[in-house]
Amino acid sequence: METAKTIESARKFIASARGQGRTVGLVPTMGALHIGHISLIQAARRQTDYVVVSIFVNPTQFAPAEDFDKYPRPFDDDLQICREQGVDLVFAPDAKEMYPTKNITWVSVEKLTEGLCGRTRPGHFRGVTTVCAKLFNIVQPNVAFFGQKDAQQAIIIKRMVAELNIPLKIQICPTVREEDGLAVSSRNKYLSESERKDAPLLYKSLQKARQLIGTGATDSEQIIAQMRKVLAQSPLLKSEYIEIVEPETLELLNPVKGPALVALAVRCGSARLIDNILVDAASD
Ligand code: AMP
Repeated sequence: METAKTIESARKFIASARGQGRTVGLVPTMGALHIGHISLIQAARRQTDYVVVSIFVNPTQFAPAEDFDKYPRPFDDDLQICREQGVDLVFAPDAKEMYPTKNITWVSVEKLTEGLCGRTRPGHFRGVTTVCAKLFNIVQPNVAFFGQKDAQQAIIIKRMVAELNIPLKIQICPTVREEDGLAVSSRNKYLSESERKDAPLLYKSLQKARQLIGTGATDSEQIIAQMRKVLAQSPLLKSEYIEIVEPETLELLNPVKGPALVALAVRCGSARLIDNILVDAASD
């Protein structure tokens, strides 16, 4: 496995793989790798010949009061995981390498970034789309792999790639969960024992929505009220938003019919947890 800290050396390694006729897969991450990331790496291994994992805690997607400084950075463990998973190249630039000058060039996607996480994290998605555009230009992958866990991010990136004619495929992989249903996340490390015990209520509330929609409920306000009841079983959980939206446009759906994305963000102690499920009101 190769490791590149600079854009120039990453490009050299990738050019050499391409020269051998290999297709390139990119898994963009912020490190603190876990089984969710591993599932993306494994999908990349299956679908492409040369797998690049980027590890970069991107400062431009964090607001000043957010957890950029305390975000976990277990770099040696991450390298070990990548080695075990047969990754070909880890691209791990520092912030100076990615942003040598104060960034004044941004990629912004409108509308899709306004609701859900966009409401409470202004500027977050502009940082995400900008860094992903940069990574796509540096690596020029055939396929880039993203998790359904961050559904809004995946939809925004897909739209950006389509509208900017970036020649690559975006592959969205299913959310990996702990046995009790909690979506695996690097931020789960912030949870205390009691918070960790209550955190699976997020998924339970999503399952409640699936069950209600499956038995014919269409009033999104009523469905969301039932989801709130599930979350209210723990005093440790403070919901930031619960929304039922159309999965491509992210517009609010009421009544709920056809495909729907049920998504929520919940504060749990110092952690902010997000999760979602896709349902189809026609078939569920
Ligand atoms: P992050 O390092 O948190 O920025 O995540 C990097 C990629 O891994 C993103 O595309 C995430 O959506 C994806 N990811 C994170 N957690 C999970 C999970 N539990 N299941 C599937 N994908 C995930």
